[in-house]
Amino acid sequence: MTRHRAAWVVPIAGPPIRGGIVSIARDLIVGVGEDDGGAAEDLGSVAILPGLVNAHTHLELSWMRGQVPPGPSMPAWASALIARRRAVTPEPVEPIADAIVEARRSGTCLVGDVTNTLATYDPLLDSVLSAAVFQELIGFSAADPDAVVRAAAGRIAELTPVSWLRPSIVPHAPYSVSPALMKAIAGATRGMPLSVHLGESSQELQFLRDGTGEWRSLLEAVGAWNDAWIAPNCGPVEYIDRLGLVDEHLLAVHGVHFTDADLARLAGARATVVACPRSNRWTGAGTPPVERFYASGVSVAIGTDSLASVEDLNLFAEMAEVRRLAPSVPAGRILESATLAGARALGFASELGSIEPGKRAQLLAVRLPAACPDVEEYLLSGIEPGDVRWLDS
Ligand SMILES: [Zn+2]
Repeated sequence: MTRHRAAWVVPIAGPPIRGGIVSIARDLIVGVGEDDGGAAEDLGSVAILPGLVNAHTHLELSWMRGQVPPGPSMPAWASALIARRRAVTPEPVEPIADAIVEARRSGTCLVGDVTNTLATYDPLLDSVLSAAVFQELIGFSAADPDAVVRAAAGRIAELTPVSWLRPSIVPHAPYSVSPALMKAIAGATRGMPLSVHLGESSQELQFLRDGTGEWRSLLEAVGAWNDAWIAPNCGPVEYIDRLGLVDEHLLAVHGVHFTDADLARLAGARATVVACPRSNRWTGAGTPPVERFYASGVSVAIGTDSLASVEDLNLFAEMAEVRRLAPSVPAGRILESATLAGARALGFASELGSIEPGKRAQLLAVRLPAACPDVEEYLLSGIEPGDVRWLDS
């Protein structure tokens, strides 16, 4: 057994412990608490905290880093991304492994990774990063939704199964996935985490209201418009609730344009909202109402989104942006969002997300300044990878 003593231990499952001790044996946490005076390796002026959870990214888009400049509107940005993606085939896969290394270096132990191609699965197999691997389907005019889902399940069945990677099938968004395909996915994946881009742009609200606007134009431009589709004339959360997607397994990603009623419905279903504020600025989607997310009582997780729409995969930088947008939210709640809330939403809370006996010892030591009156607030100040190291277990 190894015992580590640190200036601060931040268990997430309880309040920070000054001069705390964490005990580890065979890669598992076996104890956490106050200094009992026993022998321990003194790590000095660091905070020990659980590895961070990036609840929304697309590792397969890592090759597009810096290639799609910030857009005037989210549909305009997305069409630039689609054009770039179609122009470069096959997509370079080497940057996926680099992005995994980058995520680890900045303290991430678990990701919710959205992939259309499953190209991220083998690089993840070669890494120690845990992942909910979301095979994302797109299809606004799919003729046989059940066959589309069966084909996706077949691709998952061919993957090498390992304990730290959990593949499942998810829909992209209300404007890119038909109601029938949404229902087919929900029906085939009951009980598994289901991630969907939701309430991201104002144009999505317009599209669901009356079927017009930039998303309609984009669907027509790419030949995917479906004449049989009738606009539901409701908000995004109500829409996917009607289709059977809103329950405790849902990750509603972005929510930039969620109303209080949307948030109340998600909170009532014990679903999770995933905030990705740096990406929302880049894509032109807007500023997520993070204070309202927390005030609604819904579970809030945090994601960086992909390197196509964010500078880096450093979740500490994303937390700093959440803090900037939500100055009245207690620091501990934001830290919980970037750890335990993400682990719960991704189905990994029994092994990751907090420092508790029985969980995996995927722990960080973050260097602290000489004077650190509020360790939780300090951890939201924009920690750089150079001040983060993984604790040997
Ligand atoms: Zn995304």
